[in-house]
Amino acid sequence: MADTKTALVTGASRGIGRAIATALAREGMDVAVVATADSPAAQKTMDLIRSEGRKAYFAPLDVSNFAACGDCVAKLLEEAGNIDILVNNAGITRDKLLLQMREADFDDVIAVNLKGAFNMTKALLRHFLKKKSGNIINISSVVGLMGNAGQANYAASKAGLIGFTKSVAREYAAKGIVCNAICPGYIETDMTRQMPEDAREKLRAAVPMQRPGLPEDVAAAVVFLSHAPYITGEVLRVDGGMYI
Ligand code: NDP
Repeated sequence: MADTKTALVTGASRGIGRAIATALAREGMDVAVVATADSPAAQKTMDLIRSEGRKAYFAPLDVSNFAACGDCVAKLLEEAGNIDILVNNAGITRDKLLLQMREADFDDVIAVNLKGAFNMTKALLRHFLKKKSGNIINISSVVGLMGNAGQANYAASKAGLIGFTKSVAREYAAKGIVCNAICPGYIETDMTRQMPEDAREKLRAAVPMQRPGLPEDVAAAVVFLSHAPYITGEVLRVDGGMYI
């Protein structure tokens, strides 16, 4: 079908990325799944997309590798023919108090969470410019707005992503390309399950809506932005009121 849209979602093998990929497929889009490896988890996301009657593409990629991002996007564009929406969702944590944080903990988190979004946006920009449209959605975090003890590296990467989002929005608004950020609060996924139970309990207690977020809560905001052509440079919290 000529007017079927295609979305590329990084970090779509699990958690929030999988929920985003599935929700966009439910909206009638074909979806390219990007994750570090072709794992059973990535295959499950592909199955979920197909069960919505949409096409699923897959590419293994380390988003922190600039050259690999270019190659990956070129390959997916060849396969899919078109990409309309880029969701920069891949992310990692290396939580430690600053005193214990090693240089590699800082560099790795910035490389995946912040540079990864730069790499993927750069890789798709010419395609978006050529067709005079594109929708970029960056998954930041409330921690990028408020900071968090034990997450100086992660908070810096997520705050950086907000600055990146607003700059891209300003730079390409006149070219039909929109760019927005979503800031999830505390969402139960593999990422938060690896935190100590007392830290998780503290986060749960900080949510005015008195429940942890679900990956589907974040996916609903992505679906909204995917249909919102006049919104750009926006930072949308999906946090149950955590950062009011
Ligand atoms: P998960 O740890 O559950 O999933 C992370 C995903 O990112 C996986 O698909 C993983 O792929 C992929 N990934 C990790 N490193 C790379 C890399 N170098 N290149 C490509 N893909 C990579 O995380 P969540 O679903 O919880 O988080 C998704 C996003 O939401 C992240 O950006 C996170 O920072 C953000 N966020 C999460 C919150 C939460 O409470 N969970 C709160 C606020 C923001 P693979 O399976 O191959 O490892």
